[in-house]
Amino acid sequence: MSEPWPVHTVVFDLDDTLYPELDFVLSGFAAVDACLREGRGVEGFAEKARELFAAGRRGKIMDEVLPLLGLARDQGLVAELVETYRNHSPNLQLFPDATEILDWLTPRFRLGLITDGCARAQMGKIRALRLDGCIPYRIITDELGRAFGKPSTEPYRRLAALCPGGAEGFVYVADNPHKDFLGAKQSGWRTIRIRRQGGEHAEYVATAAESAEVEVSLLSELRLRLVPDAGSAAHGFTAKAVDTPTVKLATMDRFRPCALGAEEP
Ligand SMILES: [Mg+2]
Repeated sequence: MSEPWPVHTVVFDLDDTLYPELDFVLSGFAAVDACLREGRGVEGFAEKARELFAAGRRGKIMDEVLPLLGLARDQGLVAELVETYRNHSPNLQLFPDATEILDWLTPRFRLGLITDGCARAQMGKIRALRLDGCIPYRIITDELGRAFGKPSTEPYRRLAALCPGGAEGFVYVADNPHKDFLGAKQSGWRTIRIRRQGGEHAEYVATAAESAEVEVSLLSELRLRLVPDAGSAAHGFTAKAVDTPTVKLATMDRFRPCALGAEEP
């Protein structure tokens, strides 16, 4: 294996990188199911929605399920259900290897997040996973505008503007070669693809332009790939400051509040 990369900032994608997005989808369907059952006496939404999702349908599931339940495709109702889906409070858990690697990374590197998706839904996921407490630099691209979702270089530029250090000291860890690595590579960042067995994009064979520099099957492998760079010590990210709750809190106190993706009122 090649030498570990000296980096100062480890930036993650969210969905299917740190937690299984399917859990959010299913809990969202359950929330919509309860809304229809309690508000209109209509049963069966979650089951039909799960069937369509399992068949690979994306994007219009609300519209497609309503006629199957004997309801008209009323756009007002669809909008209400989409809001219910996006705003529900999910019960989510990090992948076990994500928990492990975040514990290891926290005292050693600056941590960041760049995620696409509806801002309110993404903030709900971040809170449910308690990532707002351990990943201080967060960009939700929806807050920048639709034009700035991945693979735009803009979210990488915005995050880098918050964190001192050279471009080669950033690494982006993500699961979707269709969009995750193009902007990162154009920004001069290093890239790692997490390719979990059974993952949504695990079978996809990326083109050279889409590919990450390195692939791993578990985030735990980052321990072997990354070392704090020379600038990390200057910022307090030293291997000495590890693994006691007191030190972790002191380390977190040095972070500036997140400028983007900050807590909503
Ligand atoms: Mg993803």
